[in-house]
Amino acid sequence: MKLNELKKEVLKAAKDSYKLGLVAGTSGNVSIYDKNNEVMIITPSSIPYDTMTIEDLVVLKLDGTILDGYNKPSSEWKMHAKIFKDRKDIKCVLHTHSPYATGFAVCQETIPVILIEMVPFIGGDVPVAKFGMPGSESIGTEALKVLKDRKACLLSNHGTLAIGETVDKAFTSSIYLEDAAKIYHIAKNAGNVKVLSDKEINMMKNS
Ligand SMILES: [Zn+2]
Repeated sequence: MKLNELKKEVLKAAKDSYKLGLVAGTSGNVSIYDKNNEVMIITPSSIPYDTMTIEDLVVLKLDGTILDGYNKPSSEWKMHAKIFKDRKDIKCVLHTHSPYATGFAVCQETIPVILIEMVPFIGGDVPVAKFGMPGSESIGTEALKVLKDRKACLLSNHGTLAIGETVDKAFTSSIYLEDAAKIYHIAKNAGNVKVLSDKEINMMKNS
């Protein structure tokens, strides 16, 4: 796929995240790794989503060398680069501050498997990565430790992270993460939450 097409995908995911309330203000960031050219395309730092254009996106190497774009890359570019360096199967990294999921990130509380959609779209429960300093590679390092076979995780006292082999997959995981967090919050307030058993989860994984 050509660079311009990849840029369109990044921009669409960024704007859709904003429209759906997964990010507020200029928080959150999206990136795609282009394996053929060994470059990452990422949303810029501090540009409002509603006015963001393709020209605002930044193309850089995983070592931070900027190849294209006149803006600063997202302040979290090191987290994205770390994930692309370690996970060759991942093409898209999507970071949000979606409110319900971030609420559990602030509590540093795992979201158990309470809904069937969590199995295909997240890969199981939603683990919590240890706190990493903003802008540091350590956020990515800590996220990788808990992600393993999961498609999304919580970042302690910060937000969410979804990864995927495609932009659509990462975006869908983000949506289902927020949905699960919202429903878990409601269920916890309503009564005793019943979590799906390992047996039920494995049956779904193998069906
Ligand atoms: Zn953030």
